Amino acid sequence: NLYNMLQEVRGNIRVYCRIRPLNSESISSIEHIGNDGSIMVCDPFKAQNTRKIFQFNKTFGPTTTQDEVYMETQSLIRSVMDGYNVCIFAYGQTGSGKTHTMCGPSGGLSSNNLGINYMALNDLFTISTSREDMKYDMRVQMVEIYNEQVRDLLSEDTSSTKLDIRTSTNGLFNIPDAKMCPVQSPSDVMNLMLLGEKHRASGPTTMNNRSSRSHSILTVHVNGKDMSGNVSCSCLHLVDLAGSERVDRSEATGDRLKEAQHINKSLSCLGDVITALAQKNSHIPYRNSKLTQLLQSSLGGNAKTLMLAHISPEGESYVETLSTLKFAQRVS
Ligand code: ADP
Ligand code: MG
Repeated sequence: NLYNMLQEVRGNIRVYCRIRPLNSESISSIEHIGNDGSIMVCDPFKAQNTRKIFQFNKTFGPTTTQDEVYMETQSLIRSVMDGYNVCIFAYGQTGSGKTHTMCGPSGGLSSNNLGINYMALNDLFTISTSREDMKYDMRVQMVEIYNEQVRDLLSEDTSSTKLDIRTSTNGLFNIPDAKMCPVQSPSDVMNLMLLGEKHRASGPTTMNNRSSRSHSILTVHVNGKDMSGNVSCSCLHLVDLAGSERVDRSEATGDRLKEAQHINKSLSCLGDVITALAQKNSHIPYRNSKLTQLLQSSLGGNAKTLMLAHISPEGESYVETLSTLKFAQRVS
C-alpha cells in the first residue's frame, strides 16, 4: 500500500513526539506545535529566552486522544500482518506519559482509554479474521529488563527466572525460555496484560515506582500461512522504556546509582543502534545491551521502527525536555 511505499522512500525509522497535558500551576516550556511535526520550546524561567525548534514526523499536543495517536500508528502495526517486523517504543522521563500511551491512564487496563498495546493486538485479530486467504497464529511474550537482567512477566514463577538471551540459527537474538502464550482473542490478550502488569509491580526489589526503572517489552509473534502453505513469520515489539531522566550523581548511591547506570547505558545503546541504522552504517552495535539484543529483529533490515518521544511540558522539566528532544532528533 501507499504507506509502505512511502516508508521505503523515507527509510524505516520514524519519530513522533507526544506532549502530555500541563500540570496546573506550572508554566509551560512549549511555545508552539506546528502541523508539520515541528515543536518550539523555551525555558520559561530564563530571562534570556532562546527558542529551540525540533522537527519530527509528527508532534501530538496535549489534547491529542489515545485514538488519534493510534490512528497514526495503525498502518505500521498492520504491516506486521504483511510480514514486517515492527518495533514501537516509548521514550521520555518518568511522568511524561509513556505508560499512558502504551497501556492507558496510570498503566491501568480498567478504563476505556486503552493504549497502543491493547489496540494493536485488537487490530491484529480483526485483520486475521478478515483475511480468508491466510491463516494466522499469534503468540505473546512479556518480559522486563531491570539492571541488565531479563525477567519473565508471564510466568507464574517470576522470582527465580533470570532469562538468557540466545542467538538463534538465523543469527537473531531471542529468549527461548520466556513463556510464550498463544492468544486467540482480545480478551486472552487483556488477561495476559493484566498478569504481566501484576508481576511487573511485584518484582524482587520492592522499591517504589520500580517500573519506571525497568524496560518492559511486549512481543507478539505472528505466523501466517497462505492457501498454498507458504509460511511467513513476523514480530511486533511494544516497549515501555525506563525513565530517561539523568540521576544526580551526588544524590544517587548504592542500588539507585547502579540502576541509573544500567538505564543510561541501555538507552544510549539504543540511541547508538538507531543512529547507526539511520546513517546506514555497516556495523550496528546490537550487542552492547540486553535491550538492543532483544529488539534486534525489529530494528534494522526490513523492520519498521517508531519512536514515541514523550515530553513533560512543565518549565521545571525543561532540561529533561531538551535532552529528550535532542535524543529523538538524533535518530530521526
Ligand atoms: P511515565 O510512564 O512516562 O512515567 P505516565 O504514563 O505514568 O508516565 O504518566 C504520568 C501521569 O500523567 C499519569 O497520571 C498519566 O495518567 C498522566 N498522563 C500522561 N499522559 C497523559 C495524556 N496524554 N493525557 C492525560 N493524562 C496523561
Ligand atoms: Mg511508566
